[in-house]
Amino acid sequence: MHQLQITDKLPNVGTTIFTVMSVLAAELKAINLGQGFPDFDMSEKLISLVSQAMRNGHNQYAHMNGYMLLREAIAEKISFLYNQEVNPDTEITVTAGGTYGLFTAMATVLHPGDEVIVFEPAYDCYIPTIEMLGATAVRIPLVFPTYSVPWQRVKENINQRTRAIIINSPHNPTGSILSANDMQQLQSLVQDTDIIIISDEVYEHTVMDGLQHESILRYPALRKRSFVSFSFGKNYHCTGWKIGYSIAPPALMKAFRKVHQFNCFSCDMPKQVALAEYLKDRDAYLQLGSFMQQKRDFLQGLMQQTRFEPMSSKGSFFQCYSYKNISDEGEAQFAQRLVREHGVAVIPLSAFYQDDVNNNVVRFCFVKKDSTLEQAVERLVGL
Ligand code: PMP
Ligand code: GLN
Repeated sequence: MHQLQITDKLPNVGTTIFTVMSVLAAELKAINLGQGFPDFDMSEKLISLVSQAMRNGHNQYAHMNGYMLLREAIAEKISFLYNQEVNPDTEITVTAGGTYGLFTAMATVLHPGDEVIVFEPAYDCYIPTIEMLGATAVRIPLVFPTYSVPWQRVKENINQRTRAIIINSPHNPTGSILSANDMQQLQSLVQDTDIIIISDEVYEHTVMDGLQHESILRYPALRKRSFVSFSFGKNYHCTGWKIGYSIAPPALMKAFRKVHQFNCFSCDMPKQVALAEYLKDRDAYLQLGSFMQQKRDFLQGLMQQTRFEPMSSKGSFFQCYSYKNISDEGEAQFAQRLVREHGVAVIPLSAFYQDDVNNNVVRFCFVKKDSTLEQAVERLVGL
């Protein structure tokens, strides 16, 4: 009998930690503060806008670049938020979520032999995508425990092969954010080079403590060399919708669309029609920062009853906690014990590093009902 064989493109990769932890949490009936999704309902209004769009006959292929009224609404939002004009015809493409936008951007610019600078801890899709495309990830650790960018090290790692730098602010998993000073440092490092910036801004509206999101779109000199990836799932509590958009200057977006047209081609039409209308409601996204802050602070208040120590979180759905007062186990082992013995799923930070790293840190998702957070912390008090 012939044994069918394929050559694995990602021989060192298993199943993503988010799926592993969510499956374990479901099996063990644990409280899931692991994977980043809300456990409360999304907006009724947005749901009815989708069903209305379906009843109104918006059920066929959207334009491959995205439903024009949605692209116009996105351009209007960017102008309002970041004071930058983006052309909906040439610079915006609606994507099947943020991950897809990031993958397409990388597939557009990376060739075998290219190097991409990535900061660790790194969101899980970056490095496998780089490697799948035959390029090499040059990993630079963020400075523990603030998780700030060591710009001098970035400078030392830039060479002729550096094709791209991936940034992510607000940052998953740590909740750190890039400052205006970080953006200026980045700008001065890449000027006079052909380096492309791939900016993951899916948490743009989750910035807390009165701080401002430093979008690439605020920086014209960076914007002209960047792909920026956004996600409606994160903004509107509907992570299962998998819809977002990418922004890039015309020449880069033209190349991006060449890849997109043979992969996804076009995205879910009824949701695009609904989102075009819903985007007009600015409060729906403007209030997210204070909402996240309330959630973060609620969890942090409860966690004072435990021996976990909070780390700084300025944005995203997440806050990291140190368990160094509880155990010196490795992070993966500790997270396994937490879910199996105490019924709470969290994500070990080691999952975001290629090497074995142990800072005794795990990530909690706080975008959950208050009652969920209360029940989870009750289970951690005795630890
Ligand atoms: N980037 C980061 C940093 C994320 O946390 C996520 C997770 N949602 C994504 C990208 C992907 O977004 P989407 O679900 O829209 O693909
Ligand atoms: N972004 C989410 C998180 O960090 C998970 C998305 C996914 O499972 N791919 O938890």
